[in-house]
Amino acid sequence: MRFFLLPILVVVLCSACKKEPVDEMSNEAQNDRLTKVYPSVEKALWPYFEEFEKEAAVRGIAIDLSDGEIHGVIQEITQEHIAGTCNYNSHRTDLVTIDKEFWDSSPDLLREAVVFHELGHCRLVRDHREGSDDNGNCISLMASGTESCRQFYSAAIRTALLDELFDPTFQGDWFD
Ligand SMILES: [Zn+2]
Repeated sequence: MRFFLLPILVVVLCSACKKEPVDEMSNEAQNDRLTKVYPSVEKALWPYFEEFEKEAAVRGIAIDLSDGEIHGVIQEITQEHIAGTCNYNSHRTDLVTIDKEFWDSSPDLLREAVVFHELGHCRLVRDHREGSDDNGNCISLMASGTESCRQFYSAAIRTALLDELFDPTFQGDWFD
């Protein structure tokens, strides 16, 4: 079964969607791996949330997903072929939902791709970015999955796609 990465974006007030600017994360914080608790997030997602923070940190972006601003759950998404969603608006906590069927049938890297894609929406305030390279592979982890490019997320190109994911050039205006 093929899953797409459509977001559900509920934005009531755009001005309220802006996030706080980030600071450099200290080396000490970077070394504090796999010990964090994310009270508002389902425990199976914790390693992926922490990995997201880690990959942001090595690129000079401090992100703390344990502050309760984003909830995370794994549950059935009734829309067909949707692997994950990000719901956010100005009046309630953002919510990342990962489809349970997708989760149960997917390897670690694919899970990471979908969790990072949804956190790209919910935390980095990124929109979709389509486009493919010469091989037909998507140039961004933020590709919607509905276009023609192939989302090929392997260990070999992971670094390049994460560089693109955390590139401030493509992120929301809270980075300005
Ligand atoms: Zn999306």
